[in-house]
Amino acid sequence: MKKNTFGFNFILIALVFALIVSMFSGCSKSKKTAVQGTDTGYGISRDISNTTDGIGRETKTTEETAPPKERNGIIVCVDPGHGFVDGGCGEGYLGEYLEKDITLQVALKLKDELIKNGFEVVLTHDGTTIPEGGDSNFNNIFSATERAVYVNTLDIDYFISIHVNAFGDDDSVSGMQLYYEQNYNKVNDWSKPIAESISASIISHEVDTKSVQLIDYNTLAVTRETHVAASLLEIGYCTNPTDNENMLSESWQNSLAKAVADGIYDFFKDKIQAK
Ligand SMILES: [Zn+2]
Repeated sequence: MKKNTFGFNFILIALVFALIVSMFSGCSKSKKTAVQGTDTGYGISRDISNTTDGIGRETKTTEETAPPKERNGIIVCVDPGHGFVDGGCGEGYLGEYLEKDITLQVALKLKDELIKNGFEVVLTHDGTTIPEGGDSNFNNIFSATERAVYVNTLDIDYFISIHVNAFGDDDSVSGMQLYYEQNYNKVNDWSKPIAESISASIISHEVDTKSVQLIDYNTLAVTRETHVAASLLEIGYCTNPTDNENMLSESWQNSLAKAVADGIYDFFKDKIQAK
């Protein structure tokens, strides 16, 4: 009798543990338990209590990391989320597309708009080739952690990753989120003010009827593990009809890209060297 009770308790504990683990696994339409949307494929679960080393990062003050004078401008790295065999979310919602297609479309537009604003821009990938060394598992997936490691080899000032969200069976959930890491060691500490500037620009450009949720979040590899100020922008929910229609609209993508690029410019304008 006593033994049976123990067995029942063990199963109960195992079930609770499995539930917790499932909350931190890949991008899924069914995870209603996630606090901030369900595009959690970029979360990683390893120990973060001592992560200031291992990926070549040194902490410096913002003053020390002001752009060198010989540089013509600020360098921004734009990351189209997912890609290759990792389609992300959106299956059954985005017509012939998946999240990886939308993120690439938006990232390319953002690149163009940033160049117009005077920035130098690099992409983590162009949808056809993973950078050399980026696919360390040789599985044709450019994982979030692999991206962070790759990004840390780049001489850049700011990093932004583009994503599409999904939310279970509730199609009323909509809007954008902008994730960043405020209290984490970076070579500069601009993550929060850049996120605020982008959010303000998206609102002033009237890209969405709702304001952008700004979220200081500590489990996203591409915002936490990257060595410079970083953001992850969820541009909308493929499961919401309005967001879905927007994301499939080229003119809406253009508006979003311009708003984000202008928001980044608004933050950096006093740091851009006169040409
Ligand atoms: Zn995603």
